[in-house]
Amino acid sequence: MFTCTTHSPEETEGLAELVGKRIREGTVLCLVGDLGAGKTLFVKSLARTLGVEGSVTSPTFNLMHVYDGICPIYHFDLYRLKREEELDEIGFYEYTENAQDSEGLVIIEWPDKFPSCMPKDYVEVRIVRTGETERALTFSSVGTYYDKFVKELESFVHLSH
Ligand code: ADP
Ligand code: MG
Repeated sequence: MFTCTTHSPEETEGLAELVGKRIREGTVLCLVGDLGAGKTLFVKSLARTLGVEGSVTSPTFNLMHVYDGICPIYHFDLYRLKREEELDEIGFYEYTENAQDSEGLVIIEWPDKFPSCMPKDYVEVRIVRTGETERALTFSSVGTYYDKFVKELESFVHLSH
């Protein structure tokens, strides 16, 4: 687990870019944080780094957007989700089960709305607003599968500073 502090939206974008240089298909990344924390901003920059050219916005109404980057990116936002069953209806589990063997990258905003529906293993980015333009971003591996990835990411981020 490691934490990075950013002092502007641009710094958060820079951090997401570093993550984008390391992250690959077969990863589930969950972003936790209040409204306005910077989750979507982080996803936008990450997606750009992965070669996505079209617009990246939070999938508020259909709950999932798919982007075409160096790999398919499945972006979920569970904020407006009311019932757990809706996850089944939108095919959520087809993306999160066996995600490690998939060709795509799964990104989930608001995983904490339905904690029991989240996969066993994922990379968590927890964003806390510590000032008007200051954010603390904590990266951790939930489960064990991504332990090594998070350790490598920590070294990479620190070396890039
Ligand atoms: P969320 O998806 O978490 O609700 P958004 O990414 O949509 O949040 O919005 C984050 C807002 O906070 C943006 O308006 C952004 O400009 C602002 N902001 C200010 N400082 C930062 C920072 N250090 N990191 C990320 N966003 C920041
Ligand atoms: Mg958002």
